[in-house]
Amino acid sequence: MDLYGVETYLQPKSLQEVKAWQSDWNWLAGGTWIFNQAQPQVKTLVDMEKFDWTEIEITPEGLTIGATCIQNDLLDFSFPESWTATEALKDAVRELASFKLSHAATVGGNICLALSASTFAPVMVALDASYEIWRPNGEPYFVDAVDFQTAPQQTILQPGEVLRRIKIPAQNLQWQTSFKRMAVCTAGYAIAIVVTAYHTQTQQVRFGIAGSVRSPQLVTGELGSISLHEQMPPSVEYLEDERGSTAYRRHVTGVLMQRGITELTTGMKGDRRY
Ligand SMILES: Cc1cc2nc3c(=O)[nH]c(=O)nc-3n(C[C@H](O)[C@H](O)[C@H](O)COP(=O)(O)OP(=O)(O)OC[C@H]3O[C@@H](n4cnc5c(N)ncnc54)[C@H](O)[C@@H]3O)c2cc1C
Repeated sequence: MDLYGVETYLQPKSLQEVKAWQSDWNWLAGGTWIFNQAQPQVKTLVDMEKFDWTEIEITPEGLTIGATCIQNDLLDFSFPESWTATEALKDAVRELASFKLSHAATVGGNICLALSASTFAPVMVALDASYEIWRPNGEPYFVDAVDFQTAPQQTILQPGEVLRRIKIPAQNLQWQTSFKRMAVCTAGYAIAIVVTAYHTQTQQVRFGIAGSVRSPQLVTGELGSISLHEQMPPSVEYLEDERGSTAYRRHVTGVLMQRGITELTTGMKGDRRY
């Protein structure tokens, strides 16, 4: 799509070149969303390609993913065998949309776009990821994945701030994971996504929930004591639209949580998509 409002295209090599951030500027990552929608408010595109923030790094602390890492690169990467939870990252790529999209879209683009049906957000929440954000002056700060998105297409990012990288702690990468997604038609927009992470020794469970709720949610507990969707904080707001009512989304979320935990405790792999 032509972005008829865009007057300037910048391709900086470093953040120092982007100091004078204006309200009508917009970061450009893979461009799969930006060029798919009218963006009348955008006058300047600030292309992030030359930053080269594409790393997938294994460190003693865990996994680091650069914000402009192409989603498909996660499918091809050789992770340590013990990092079973990297399967959830791969599921986030597989469940996003098409081959064409995942070869251009970035991990950071999905997280910062912050759609309710983001496939990466619930994975990051379930795995206790944190996001490194850079202020326009380059000063970094960290935020937990669960606190990043505040509503559909709203995040805590202030004008000119940028997601630099994502960090997932090593211990969480050794959990077992299950990715479950429900849509009203096979290739449709998800009405609920539940990513379940389970630690077999301690029987701890972490659910990352999206699709059904206004912002990604985390539910944690110990197997047996955890009462699935009843553990959701009372303040959680479920979405209501033409795809599904609040009551339906709440119900489906509980069903997907149950299926995730059943899969991980019985070892019987079920469908990922319903
Ligand atoms: C056919 C189709 C189906 C789709 N289905 C789904 C779906 O089911 N679930 C889902 O989650 N998404 C879906 N998407 C959207 C998809 O997630 C996004 O297009 C993609 O992830 C965006 O990545 P990108 O790198 O292309 O970002 P861009 O399009 O370049 O940018 C997206 C937004 O994020 C901002 N941004 C990007 N990177 C950063 C950063 N590092 N720091 C700060 N801001 C940043 C940009 O300014 C822009 O506002 C779909 C898109 C299409 C075209």
